[in-house]
Amino acid sequence: MKNMKISNTSFDTKCVHAGIEDNEFGAVVPPIYQTSTFKFQSVQQGAKLFAGEEKGYIYTRMANPTVEALENCVAELEGGYKGLGCASGMAAIHTVLATLTSAGDHVLCSSAVYGPTTTLLNTILKKFGVDADYVDTSNLEEVRRGIKPNTKIVYIETPGNPTLYISDIKEISKLAKKQNAVTVVDNTFMSPALQRPLELGADIVLHSLTKFLNGHADVVGGIIVVKDEDTYKNFRRTLNQLGGVIDPFNSFLVHRGIKTLSIRMQRHCENSQVIAEYLEKHSLIKKVVYPGLKSHPQYELGLKQHDGHGGMITFEMAGGFEAGQILMNSVKLCQLAVSLGGVETLIQHPASMTHFSMGKAARVMGGITEGLVRFSVGIENVNDIINDLEQALQKVEKANLQEG
Ligand SMILES: *Cc1c(COP(=O)(O)O)cnc(C)c1O
Repeated sequence: MKNMKISNTSFDTKCVHAGIEDNEFGAVVPPIYQTSTFKFQSVQQGAKLFAGEEKGYIYTRMANPTVEALENCVAELEGGYKGLGCASGMAAIHTVLATLTSAGDHVLCSSAVYGPTTTLLNTILKKFGVDADYVDTSNLEEVRRGIKPNTKIVYIETPGNPTLYISDIKEISKLAKKQNAVTVVDNTFMSPALQRPLELGADIVLHSLTKFLNGHADVVGGIIVVKDEDTYKNFRRTLNQLGGVIDPFNSFLVHRGIKTLSIRMQRHCENSQVIAEYLEKHSLIKKVVYPGLKSHPQYELGLKQHDGHGGMITFEMAGGFEAGQILMNSVKLCQLAVSLGGVETLIQHPASMTHFSMGKAARVMGGITEGLVRFSVGIENVNDIINDLEQALQKVEKANLQEG
């Protein structure tokens, strides 16, 4: 649903105004319609609403004005037709997979994706007869070889979680299209401020709203953005049946968070670049992966594909997991917690936390080593984050000295 007033403005301006329509009292901030149901004027009107002959609201699982405001906002930012707000990122992923696949179909998926995405494919989708294969989608040859006649979806996450390898959205979308497969991109790590997959040829983009879009670590939510009316109606039907919708209050909070998306992402990127360079020079760190480092294997592709390198860094300690453990237990400002994309800096260990459920074999395939540390860089002053890392790294160094 294009908002004519802002359709020609810049992304920064859209973050502030997208999805906000005039309302009854002229409130600058749209009201929260915290209601489960909506009154009909007559039996006849109720019937018309159900038949789709009149526009209006019926029941909040089907549609709600506060949720719709958020959906229109994210659709505008991603350059899509419409959004579908979901209870979580996983609800969005499930809704997409359940809508687009039937028994006997195949999904080709990035080997480095959010852990529970692979678990969902390998358990529930598998139970319903849908097969999945995992390839390193940063390698186009592997994508080409992996697409089968029954492939319905090519599912990618870029940069991939947690290895941050970058997949070429434009080329993968072309390969998928040739085989009549749909390209789905989980854009959680970049947000539309840095990367807009639909503009690059992808068919569907989804997000965990929980992360950068909301940005304040106080909501769990998800969203799907589609390009056309038919896909929208199809997805809406599934979402209404599965029931994994976001509620009005959380929609309001996410919509509020998005107003600062542009400036938050800018600070996430600036801080991450400085921290990645600091870590890369540090003698106790074996390897740093950040799309903004020239040492990143797809550095050039990243420059073309996104407008900034994001707020996620992964690194490997020279002392392996044990050194990582000391580091993670010694940070004070940085908090030991999963999730990402909030204003506060978080640190975590994928192999024992977010990617534990996928199993060691799948982790090895996805490049998730036991010593990998994932860092979600917040918007604090960068020197404070570095000072905290420095004191924690000194503890690692001391521990090594004591061991001789
Ligand atoms: C967190 C996350 C998800 C899942 O989102 P939830 O809101 O936790 O359900 C999916 N993809 C990526 C990349 C994520 O980081």
